[in-house]
Amino acid sequence: MASTVTERPAVEPDQLAKAARDHVWIHSASWVDQAEQGGSRVFTKGEGTKLWDIYGKEYLDGISGLWVVNAGHGRAPIAEAMAEQAKKLAYVSSAVYTTEPTAKLGALLADMTPGDLSRSYFCSGGSEAVETAMKIAKQVQAMRGFPRRYKIIARRKSYHGMTHGAMSLTAIREEKYFGPFMYGVYHVPHPDQYRSDFELEGEAADIMAAKYVEQEIINQGPETVAAVIGEPISSAAGVHVPSKTYWKMLREICDRHGVLLIADEVINGFGRTGTMFAIEQYDIVPDIMTVAKALTSGYSPLAAAIVRPALFDTFKEQDTVALGHLLTFGGHPVSAAAALANLQIYEEENLVARGAEQGVYLKGLLEQLRSHPTIGDVRGVGLLQAIEIVKSKKNKTRFGKESEFCKKLGALMMERGLITRTWDVMHFAPPLTVTTEEIDRMVSIADECLTICEKEFASEITE
Ligand code: PMP
Repeated sequence: MASTVTERPAVEPDQLAKAARDHVWIHSASWVDQAEQGGSRVFTKGEGTKLWDIYGKEYLDGISGLWVVNAGHGRAPIAEAMAEQAKKLAYVSSAVYTTEPTAKLGALLADMTPGDLSRSYFCSGGSEAVETAMKIAKQVQAMRGFPRRYKIIARRKSYHGMTHGAMSLTAIREEKYFGPFMYGVYHVPHPDQYRSDFELEGEAADIMAAKYVEQEIINQGPETVAAVIGEPISSAAGVHVPSKTYWKMLREICDRHGVLLIADEVINGFGRTGTMFAIEQYDIVPDIMTVAKALTSGYSPLAAAIVRPALFDTFKEQDTVALGHLLTFGGHPVSAAAALANLQIYEEENLVARGAEQGVYLKGLLEQLRSHPTIGDVRGVGLLQAIEIVKSKKNKTRFGKESEFCKKLGALMMERGLITRTWDVMHFAPPLTVTTEEIDRMVSIADECLTICEKEFASEITE
């Protein structure tokens, strides 16, 4: 019997696959998904855009893990910075202290983020950042003399995380298992120029969606609303890029009614959409911005809710009151060291501009897929791109996430070594370091797999 922990019990690929199948709860996989994979999804190595599983099969990471690994896999300087920090100091209480790399990172983020956003409440993941933002909004409203302002307005289709509070904001939230959700959350139409709730097209669809936000605030009673939350450019919701007017209107509406505006940049942030933060493209400053994922490019868990001075000033004025919130691992020094090394790479390699350039190239190729009978729309900006798969272009009808068409398409892509999410929307969000050859290969795999599925399911496809 092997004697060390790292050698016991699984060493061979099949044993590792079995260990994963029997002892790891894969977050969003059904048992069928998990058991039928036969262990092929245990990964062992990454470099740039490439990943390898335990059987040595090579893949292209078309979605940067989960819109996370923006600086690419296998970055030794990030790993080395983490090791150095862990050797020097691995932990102090986040309740009352902070550490050298975390203080540096706070100052750096204050410089990098739009407008006067300048103070970071660090936590470990996107859901925690959203929970934090929500609690800051509620407590600030109460401390400013509006204790009845507790309602949060989110948008239908939105994804903001899976902890209970964040899930309450997430639009698809499985009421049958987890309801009732957090009291006081209301969902309004999402900006969507392809399939507008108002059957409007172009900017008019966005303007109506923005007007609806104001209607909801008025309907609820402005004196009861704490905040509005949205992703500047939606990601999981299907990559909808609203017009500039939408976010300008949301900023004005919130100001008019004393409501705080939260921009969820958990996916959008750190160059994903061609600028460092997506909200920069809309020339507004949110009251709170949530960041996570690419803050460390996934080398270590770290996230933050970043606020403007006007919010924190409330805690300076009432200087004996603290935020009713504490996360043991918030601002972990090893994660902060990873973030600093990651952002150093961004600067040295001009990663945001590089991602923007590759995004234009990727979009050009994706546009050519419109010739497929099942590609209804191509959307995105920077390296946040997507194609929408439909049964009928005329009626914009979906196959459905669980349809045989989408399942087969996903399986074929995986077989050919392209990792992405293939539901009714197929995402293309590789690391910002992706090469043009890798983009060519990704789009050609998608093209080939679509053609195969369109032949097999021809009877389901109409004009
Ligand atoms: N907000 C947005 C916009 C997200 O996309 C996600 C996760 N994909 C979250 C919050 C939650 O992040 P996490 O999974 O790190 O908790």
